Amino acid sequence: MKACYPGTFDPITKGHLDIIERASRMFDEVVILIMRNPNKKCLFSEAERRQMIADCVASLPNADRISVEIGSGLTVEYAKSIGASAIVRGIRAVSDYEYELLQATANMYLNDRIETMLLIARPEYSFLSSSVVKEIGVNRGDISGMVPPEILEKVSSQLAGN
Ligand code: ADP
Repeated sequence: MKACYPGTFDPITKGHLDIIERASRMFDEVVILIMRNPNKKCLFSEAERRQMIADCVASLPNADRISVEIGSGLTVEYAKSIGASAIVRGIRAVSDYEYELLQATANMYLNDRIETMLLIARPEYSFLSSSVVKEIGVNRGDISGMVPPEILEKVSSQLAGN
């Protein structure tokens, strides 16, 4: 069974990577989908985000069954086009749940053959988001516990403005 994990990943965090690793234990194939969202202003380009994700997943045990794609339009349509029958998302708090519930229900309305699987964030990452990384990094705070080591230097220097 193939699943996709859609998101913005601006940049990928240890929380995202944990969801990817767990999903890769449940599904035969996991496609990480960088979804184009015209309403979101991203700090990292699509190509940069794609490269950073690829660098981070390379060391996972199931790396050979994990890939990264860039998609646009409706997530369910994209999922269908690549033969994915599940959409994986993560939940850190009740506020995430409210948003994810709406998304999942809308996606079910559009295509009820594609199931949304909501994975609960690991407690140590439940505060972690790309926004938190950016806020701390821009102010030159320590983000080493938040982003995978493979991309720490790139993310830190870009955020610090070098
Ligand atoms: P989006 O803009 O689609 O919310 P994100 O890249 O912010 O994209 O997040 C993608 C998915 O990963 C979302 O379902 C989000 O809830 C989940 N996620 C983000 N950070 C974490 C984390 N620390 N632990 C678990 N899930 C997370």
